[in-house]
Amino acid sequence: MEKIVYFDYSAIIILGVLMISFITRKMLKGRQNRDFMALVLITFLTTIFDVYSVAFDKFGVGTGMIISKIVFHTLYLFFHSLTLPYYLLFIIGMTGSDHLTLKNPTYKILVSIPLEFEIFMLVLNLFKHNVFYFNEEGDYVRGQFFWVNYAVAVFYLAACVALLVKHHKTIQKARFISIFSIIPAVICAVLVQYFFPFLLIESFVIAVCILYVSLVVIRPEENIDSETGLFRLPAYVDNIRKAELTKRHMVIVMINVSNYRTLSRSLGYQSSARLSFEIAKLISEECKEKRIRAEYYYIGEGKYRLLIENDDRPLVPECVKTIQKKLSDGFSFREVEISLLANVCVAYWPDDIREEKGVLLFGSQFNEFQYRQGVIYAKEIMRQKNFDIIKNLDTILEKALQDNSFQVYYQPIYSIKERRFTTAEALIRLKTEEFGFIPPDLFIPVAEQNGTIHRIGHFVLEEVCRFVASDEFKELQIKVIDVNLSTVQCLEKNLAKEISAILTEYKVRSEQINLEITETAAAFEQNEMLTNIENLSARGFRFSLDDYGTGYSNISRAIEMPLSVIKLDKSITRIDQNTKLYAIGVNTIRMIKDMNMDIVAEGIEDEATLKKFEEMGCDYIQGFYFSKPLPRDEFVKFIKEYLNKVPDGTDYKEEKEG
Ligand code: C2E
Ligand code: MG
Ligand code: MG
Repeated sequence: MEKIVYFDYSAIIILGVLMISFITRKMLKGRQNRDFMALVLITFLTTIFDVYSVAFDKFGVGTGMIISKIVFHTLYLFFHSLTLPYYLLFIIGMTGSDHLTLKNPTYKILVSIPLEFEIFMLVLNLFKHNVFYFNEEGDYVRGQFFWVNYAVAVFYLAACVALLVKHHKTIQKARFISIFSIIPAVICAVLVQYFFPFLLIESFVIAVCILYVSLVVIRPEENIDSETGLFRLPAYVDNIRKAELTKRHMVIVMINVSNYRTLSRSLGYQSSARLSFEIAKLISEECKEKRIRAEYYYIGEGKYRLLIENDDRPLVPECVKTIQKKLSDGFSFREVEISLLANVCVAYWPDDIREEKGVLLFGSQFNEFQYRQGVIYAKEIMRQKNFDIIKNLDTILEKALQDNSFQVYYQPIYSIKERRFTTAEALIRLKTEEFGFIPPDLFIPVAEQNGTIHRIGHFVLEEVCRFVASDEFKELQIKVIDVNLSTVQCLEKNLAKEISAILTEYKVRSEQINLEITETAAAFEQNEMLTNIENLSARGFRFSLDDYGTGYSNISRAIEMPLSVIKLDKSITRIDQNTKLYAIGVNTIRMIKDMNMDIVAEGIEDEATLKKFEEMGCDYIQGFYFSKPLPRDEFVKFIKEYLNKVPDGTDYKEEKEG
């Protein structure tokens, strides 16, 4: 019966179009894509040789003809035999399980024997004619060992199923279904073709399945960043999750260009896209030169990630050092030298970090750990910086809010003019059973990120108001309590209303609360922030600028705001008298005084410093010299004792000596 080749023609068209789209869309990056492309190519060649075989089958019995027929059928069977092993390879890549399979010698041998045997039989067939042969009429006849092809196919199908089932968690559900559904489809096609050899449907079914997988699974738009051509965040997360599930060992390199945002603002969109691309190119070229096998990711905002094969671990330190140096040394871009602040962090998975969440958190935070630029190792950071706590902070904060385990402490602030404590700063404290005391510098940034800062802020203000409204507070002669507002709180639409509502509830006057905002908040160009501050000022609240001298020092913007107090940060109050910085300090204070604002010197720990800042004209002093922040009861006790000991107008020195 005449063989029907139209299905093969359709398969060739489908696979050809797929290959062209792969090449034009530059999709050959990454192992998964390469394996998939190989699969497409193999199926394409199988189909081509199938068509040739059928075409030549019609011709006569001359020696040349018979040889051609044998060659085409052999090539057809050869490529056909590769299809399922390559599908298995593709699944290994999808599930990220190569370290458990291909790198395991036993598995590798076991899995390659059937294919080798099939190929051996094909070669042997050239002499023994026991897989297929041509009879005297020149017709194609299946030999006594033709079944080997089927047996091997069954073996690889079973291996695919086993691997998919074992690692099903590493693949998203929709993808799993599409990859899995190919198996029954192919089995049906093979059976149909077995019983109806004239109906050449197999290649067509495989081609359609491949098309289906490429639409559902290999979606480049979703996974590849158009600026850099690297994989995007979802692919990064996906591959880390796979490593977690399959217990893979690897090296994660995180490169953060920390001045990217500033650069991209001044460069404009197109140029910064180009810059991202150039950086990506530099990174990948350097790795290739050092023969490091890596997958590259760009997760946006100047953040690059590399997942490197564990075997290449010894090559990593040298390579990242060069990358860091090349990026920081001045990056030649569009005829100008750009200086990039490149921070590089190397983490060994799973020795240093072993959860997907940990990697992401770590990647977003390590900039803060590293003030100097350069290469840092995750292990060092974790030793230094309570990483265990940071990792669990989301849960810790939620639990602390539920269990009411936050506390508010008060640190007295001394007025030089009145020679007594007139103010105190409310400072939040968190003590947990598992980790002990967790400093606010550690948890406030996380609370800002996960939104719990609003509830924390609410809690602090309520506690403060409850205290201010109490009878014992009235005896302390404290006029004002300072409450810290975080940047995120300042951006809240209803901030003014909420704060006023709490004050009304506790019958506290707005003059009794002084709100501290940080320099970073003041430098933030946000209308919402200014509206909030103006609204609250109109309601009688006073504002201080906290931590002056630590960050942006955008005093021009700060003076646009209704600020009454500037708090000099510890970094300023610690300046050595003999340095040039001291002159800056002196002039800063003079400038602030000229603007009619009060000055608080923070972090004063000894009398000499106190004297210095008094002479410079500071109005208030806060620091361990007087007292550390104290729990409410102790604070009350401290102030009461002080009031008993020192009558009005006594010098602080005498106060201290009592
Ligand atoms: P801050 O507002 O600048 O608070 C002053 C910090 O300096 C406090 O640290 C205080 O304990 C510390 N300090 C005071 N005097 C001295 C001294 O003489 N020597 C030294 N070494 N340190 C001194 P703390 O309580 O750890 O708070 C750190 C930061 O956390 C605060 O800096 C503030 O920005 C933030 N924070 C604290 N409580 C809250 C809060 O309730 N809400 C918000 N949003 N932030 C808060
Ligand atoms: Mg403060
Ligand atoms: Mg401060």
